Amino acid sequence: MAEVNISEARKAYGTLSVLHGVDIEIRDGEFVVLVGPSGCGKSTLLRMVAGLESITGGTISIGGKVVNNLPPKDRDIAMVFQSYALYPHKTVAENMVFALRLQKQPADVIKQRLQAAAETLDLVPYLDRYPRQLSGGQRQRVAMGRAIVRSPQVFLFDEPLSNLDAKLRVQMRKEIKELHQRLRTTTIYVTHDQVEAMTMADKIVVMQGGKIEQVGTPLELYDRPSNTFVATFIGSPS
Ligand code: ADP
Ligand code: MG
Repeated sequence: MAEVNISEARKAYGTLSVLHGVDIEIRDGEFVVLVGPSGCGKSTLLRMVAGLESITGGTISIGGKVVNNLPPKDRDIAMVFQSYALYPHKTVAENMVFALRLQKQPADVIKQRLQAAAETLDLVPYLDRYPRQLSGGQRQRVAMGRAIVRSPQVFLFDEPLSNLDAKLRVQMRKEIKELHQRLRTTTIYVTHDQVEAMTMADKIVVMQGGKIEQVGTPLELYDRPSNTFVATFIGSPS
């Protein structure tokens, strides 16, 4: 596990500035939710932490080490995408260990990590199936399995539940939280859904237009929103 520090983070695509100096401190083991309307810069910020997007200004550090210039594979993070990002022609097991094979991990390590992750996620009976043979919830668990097998210091989630129906979304929120309680991996979770943020976060970061509006626990934001935007955004039903 590791703390993540984002300091004065800026991003511009050409002349378009999309992040205007963002500061976030994330403690070891914390579950932080970045929430804000579409287009406010959440994915860009997450991709900068992952190393998938260059950093125009400021500093990002993971576990006390500045990572600005490190490629994704050297950052000890794992990103969970929406479940449709599974490889359709690979089995569940092959999907889950793909990254470990790329890392050239020994076969016994791969086998043992696959087994542990499959047990954690209740996927043992499904390891030889293909994604199309799974339910939406199972597919989302496989997407998480791909991250877990790598035992990263930090999990990054980008709207992982947005393709699921409402009932499944509620169930998967619970499963992701239970997983976090078990593994205690530092997590940054991006969503535009304020209910998801309020029910899952230790700490919420509310963004708008490339800036942070407020940081606080769900209760703090609910009780003491610092401005009308936060009050309206947090208070409105999804
Ligand atoms: P969010 O995830 O909060 O919906 P994004 O981080 O995807 O927002 O996008 C923030 C802003 O940056 C948007 O205005 C978007 O159009 C712009 N943007 C994102 N990616 C690129 C890119 N590769 N090139 C140019 N503009 C981009
Ligand atoms: Mg996004």
